[in-house]
Amino acid sequence: MQTTRREVVRVTTLGAAAAMTAPAAAQTPSQARGGKQNPRGKYPSPPFPAQSQPWPGLASQMTPRPDHGETSYVGSGRLSGRNALITGGDSGMGRAAAIAFAREGANVAINYLTSEESDAREVVELIRAEGRMVAPLPGDLRDPTFCRRLVNDAVGQLGGLDILVSNAGRQQSRGSIAEISDEDFDATMKTNVYAPFWIIKAALPHLQPGSAIIATTSEQAYDPSPDLYDYAQTKAATMNFVKSLAKQFGPKGIRVNGVAPGPIWTPLQISGGASEGKVVTFGATAPLGRPGQPAELAGIFVRLAEDDGSYTTGNIYGAGGGQGQP
Ligand code: NAD
Ligand code: MG
Repeated sequence: MQTTRREVVRVTTLGAAAAMTAPAAAQTPSQARGGKQNPRGKYPSPPFPAQSQPWPGLASQMTPRPDHGETSYVGSGRLSGRNALITGGDSGMGRAAAIAFAREGANVAINYLTSEESDAREVVELIRAEGRMVAPLPGDLRDPTFCRRLVNDAVGQLGGLDILVSNAGRQQSRGSIAEISDEDFDATMKTNVYAPFWIIKAALPHLQPGSAIIATTSEQAYDPSPDLYDYAQTKAATMNFVKSLAKQFGPKGIRVNGVAPGPIWTPLQISGGASEGKVVTFGATAPLGRPGQPAELAGIFVRLAEDDGSYTTGNIYGAGGGQGQP
């Protein structure tokens, strides 16, 4: 097959952007599609170097660096011309979704905290390298006024909204309920429960039939850890609103689904989400013997967003490495 000049330019730009953000655990492109691999050995296993960063943490400072699909995700036009807003799009699962969506032909707006600008810049460059529109929209989701402005800015800058990924989350490990301050509890609830309410409500008037909402819940919704009292109940709430809104929005032709990850190697875990000891053995209890990488969930977000998934709504898609549910 002849390679067109446009393809050459695209591959070259992609190569430059990918080199800048190359994760330690990247797959080779030939392994990305079709190649059979033992999932146990595909990515790093514990023990991991002890590490901690101030919240919310940066993917660029993690050892090993997480794989968000920078060099491996190959698109095939499954979201051509769609406009997507992804909260927490700078790192972790949100970044994996952002890269995949752009490579599937979508324009992408990402929200993140101002302290995460350097991670966000890498995502912006990767989306630009695909020739897609990108709207970087930093701000704190605990503020309802910001949440409403975020939706308006995403719609304004991209020209519409077809896919909303409510993915940002706050998780801070506390051994006892006695150690959770009122401020802590409030911050977790505001980020994980209130912000999706404010954002989905603001987005609804813009969502036409065929649009999709995807929320990131967790194995914690079903099997809460003792040190995640506040966080785990927000994930149960997320799983629950996916199901109620799917019923409410079904008649409008809008699908609502959730993704329930198990232990995934992201900044959330090394910035207080897991205890420092748990970081070293992170993922060890999973039957696959390691944590997941954000790239391993990219295809799930695409599947739930694309038209081929048109009968999937009110459902939760797990990626738990053999533990957790659903
Ligand atoms: P991550 O740290 O890469 O992403 C979380 C993002 O949330 C941050 O990048 C940040 O931009 C955003 N965020 C947090 N508080 C915010 C606020 N007040 N305002 C704006 N943005 C804010 O980690 P991740 O693990 O990819 O997290 C993504 C989602 O996955 C979260 O909802 C998390 O609860 C969920 N999850 C993670 C795991 C895991 O093991 N990593 C497992 C199950 C579910
Ligand atoms: Mg981040």
